[in-house]
Amino acid sequence: MKKDLSNIKKSKLYLDKNECVGIPTETVYGLAANAYSDRATEKIFKLKKRPKKNPLIVHYFSIRDLEKDCNINKNFIKLYKNFCPGPITFILKIKKESKISKNVNDNKSTLAVRFPKHPLTRRLLKFLNYPLAAPSANISSRVSAVSKMDVKEEFGNKVKFILDGGTSKFGLESTIVSLINKPQILRLGCIEVNKIRKALKNKISLKKKSKNFIVPGQGKVHYSPGIKVRLNVQNPKLHEAFILIKKRNFNGNNYFYLSKKNNLNEAGKNLYKTLRMIKKLKYKSIAVERIPNKGIGQTINDRLIRASKR
Ligand code: AMP
Ligand code: MG
Repeated sequence: MKKDLSNIKKSKLYLDKNECVGIPTETVYGLAANAYSDRATEKIFKLKKRPKKNPLIVHYFSIRDLEKDCNINKNFIKLYKNFCPGPITFILKIKKESKISKNVNDNKSTLAVRFPKHPLTRRLLKFLNYPLAAPSANISSRVSAVSKMDVKEEFGNKVKFILDGGTSKFGLESTIVSLINKPQILRLGCIEVNKIRKALKNKISLKKKSKNFIVPGQGKVHYSPGIKVRLNVQNPKLHEAFILIKKRNFNGNNYFYLSKKNNLNEAGKNLYKTLRMIKKLKYKSIAVERIPNKGIGQTINDRLIRASKR
């Protein structure tokens, strides 16, 4: 569409001037800036109020572009063939000659990289001559944004431009896989662990804690709607918002359904939207019924557990 092209051009204008731009991806919206620029990436941390020690994910159009900055390996190729472009992030060794700003990865020897699938963002990446550092477009520790409106709500006019690509398809963050030594999952996400295991032929473990980074969930609150969240609840308290996994016959004004028919993918897509809506309706507390801990349910539970920490 003509309008899409003019918005992509507009995004490029801002990004070329070291400004941050909101970008749509299939996972959640990103707050993007030129990954090669110190000035631009500095702005991401300021806007998000993000600790400098929490490194950013860099978004690429192609393997060819990635190879300017990182060393790839066999496991990377296997996973790339199966899932890219798509909602998976790889931790790779950064090359000495890479131009990635030291701000992006806190000057470490590794880099988190991803190939987003959203068509507008792919067109934008193809158009630029640098990759985009883009963490989720929300104030640090809060619920991620899944639409242009959400990004506006988080940053107001502080973000110069938001590329509107509709509502994010998955509504949950990417799965992060470290390929530095033995493959390891660092963060659960849109792609189920089993699928990754299959693609790698069984060679993967799940990492519980990271010593070197502030990975969300080390006891610290993350993905938080800013109000109290209680899990595995059967009966909500009076005046409490109640999140249910599927639609029921009984109904209360305070009942919020994540899916019509117990579909975990649909529930994942609706999770952040629902948390945001409940906050806007000025509820003081949220109760959530038990979510089955399988498939994407594992990712939903991971996010809810972190949202419930205080
Ligand atoms: P966000 O983009 O805000 O959803 O989060 C990005 C996640 O990637 C954070 O949890 C980071 O800790 C993680 N991450 C980024 N770079 C690295 C890296 N080099 N090694 C391990 N984890 C990383
Ligand atoms: Mg985030």
